[in-house]
Amino acid sequence: MSKLFIADEDAVRSGRTMDIYFERTKKILEEKGLGGSDVWAEFTGSALPAGWPWAIFCGLEEVVRLTEGLPIDLYAIPEGTIFKARSSNSVRIPLMNIHGHYTDFGIDETAILGMICQPSGITTVAARTKIAAKWKTLFAFGNRRMHPGIAGVIDRSAYIGGCDAVSSPFGAEIIGQKPLGTTPHALMLMMGGNEAAFKAFDEIIEPEVPRIMLIDTFSDERTGAMDACRAVKDLKGVRLDTPGSRRGNFKELIDEVRWELDMKGFKDVGITVSGGLNERTVAELADTCVTSFGVGTSIANAPTLDLSMDIVEKDGIPISKRGKFGGRKYAYRCPDCLSMDVSLSPNDDIKCSCGCHMEPIEQCVIKGGKRQLPERSATEIRDYVMKQLKQISELE
Ligand SMILES: [Zn+2]
Repeated sequence: MSKLFIADEDAVRSGRTMDIYFERTKKILEEKGLGGSDVWAEFTGSALPAGWPWAIFCGLEEVVRLTEGLPIDLYAIPEGTIFKARSSNSVRIPLMNIHGHYTDFGIDETAILGMICQPSGITTVAARTKIAAKWKTLFAFGNRRMHPGIAGVIDRSAYIGGCDAVSSPFGAEIIGQKPLGTTPHALMLMMGGNEAAFKAFDEIIEPEVPRIMLIDTFSDERTGAMDACRAVKDLKGVRLDTPGSRRGNFKELIDEVRWELDMKGFKDVGITVSGGLNERTVAELADTCVTSFGVGTSIANAPTLDLSMDIVEKDGIPISKRGKFGGRKYAYRCPDCLSMDVSLSPNDDIKCSCGCHMEPIEQCVIKGGKRQLPERSATEIRDYVMKQLKQISELE
């Protein structure tokens, strides 16, 4: 069988997915005997995509798994932290700092950046969508629009940002949850009708799987909803994936289905909507009787963050390329308003504009190649994100 175009774990760990100029740089430094310099490198962003006021730092656990064992120290803000790109005086907030010999970690720059830039973008859009949905349930359905090689990364990032469930078994295993699915249009098309498909699903699929039936395949949603109610005893919900050409006034259609369900005694049957939803369209439907949203492409295909790694100190002396601020820096954050600042000292006394004292937020994650903090589960990180999101929403 021919191989797929996926970089396997060996390719990533051995550095084969890096930009080639890092390998050449390593070779030159080693040949010239300059590989032993003691270096601090920081990971920062200049601006966030689409004018976002904040983003969420995601992907640290995978960076730890990649760099554990290298003779380096890694410091980082906790995974799931809401951050701003720059402090009030425009200094870039260091999200991570690596300390060691440049030649021991330089070739991993490409992989490390990829592991935090894309996941942070996905987590941020998931969180923004969660706020747009007014905290209603969100399902991550976006894997079909992205390469399967990163399905686990997408699902984990979407979950951490606020999605309540993911659709792929692979992604679900990573976050320690059960995958969630409804019914695809293919089932109704193959079974030849709504009722036959709904009954077969109910008969064959394990009882612990929530019964959420897709009701828009052949007929009007109202008719489809009644088909589902008749066919499935413990019906949990109906899903409307109504095509754009049939949507008309989507809100009114949803209200009509709700009315019909209530009138016929199915008050506990929820309504899930899906199909090309994004932050804006979810916000438009947040105040309706929709129970949950299935959001795909807009979260999975979130803008990637433009983060970079820069050397800021060499052999104890601050150094940086122009446009960057030199020196090993420490990130601080206000516990009250979540504003951030930067200092050259780990023990600074920084007063926030809101009156509170900022706290150092960076943690030592790896020391001499050894992990210093236990792994946090995806659910633990997600809880931390949700807590900050509530805090941020109350401030806005
Ligand atoms: Zn503050």
